[in-house]
Amino acid sequence: MNFSQSVRLVWPDPGSVRAGSLYRLTIPCYLPVPDRGRSAANGEIEIPLDPSVDLLISRPRSEHYLQFTTTFHQLADAGLCPHEPPHHRTIVLDRVCGELSGGTRLPGIVFDNGMGFPIISERVADMLQRSRLTGYLLVPVEVTENLSECFIAPRLFVLCFTGNKCERIRTVDGGVNSCNRCQSCPFVCPGCGHMFPICSTCGVPMVSIVANGIRGVPDLPITVEGISYAAQDVLDGTQYDGSDFVGGGFGDYFISRNALRWFVRNRIAPIRATPVLLADSRDPVGPRPSGEK
Ligand SMILES: [Zn+2]
Ligand SMILES: [Zn+2]
Repeated sequence: MNFSQSVRLVWPDPGSVRAGSLYRLTIPCYLPVPDRGRSAANGEIEIPLDPSVDLLISRPRSEHYLQFTTTFHQLADAGLCPHEPPHHRTIVLDRVCGELSGGTRLPGIVFDNGMGFPIISERVADMLQRSRLTGYLLVPVEVTENLSECFIAPRLFVLCFTGNKCERIRTVDGGVNSCNRCQSCPFVCPGCGHMFPICSTCGVPMVSIVANGIRGVPDLPITVEGISYAAQDVLDGTQYDGSDFVGGGFGDYFISRNALRWFVRNRIAPIRATPVLLADSRDPVGPRPSGEK
């Protein structure tokens, strides 16, 4: 029997919001033309690779940047959410294995072609440990095959973001947040916002359609002090524990202003930091106040 369920998920009204504490961190991949033509968001800070990939492409392969591809990873219990059924709240790793390719040039952040994990060299890891930044864990990378130009594989670490997850939790629009066949598994974890792709009890596919701007909730983006923020860039400020590295699901990385200053001061590249907003209350009641700050 083929039976699947779908719900529309909406963002709760963010209530009052504030800017300036956290940034979404993106690690652009090494492709010479990764996102040419893309327009930068307001307030975005980018530290490009120097020399650029474009500049190196005609050079001998040994001068190219080193690359890594995760082929196996194991999530740690440290990232588990206390809510049932079991799932991971943040991506904390026990083990990462993979292959090296490319040249001998070691950038500040080695792009992971497999899972997109942020991978740093031993030099950057030492610098980070000497800083006073908080909310991270370094997991040594196991190199299973070295196809790069490096005779000896350099020591690399995955930078896991362990600060408390702050993404807002979407709600089911006009429906019930549980499998309507067995009622035992939510579509969205009420504790951390994890979306379940299938019911953990009866195995029914649970399709979550992400929607915005319905039921009188103003469509985002929100503009604060001349900067526009997308819906996913409004975080739950009540969950922010003050860490410099704040985690989330796969690919969701946030850093504090202090961490951003550290990246800039030490020219740790390549990164892109996009400002996000923090909402001041988790479940705001009533209409959104005007003149938000
Ligand atoms: Zn959860
Ligand atoms: Zn079910």
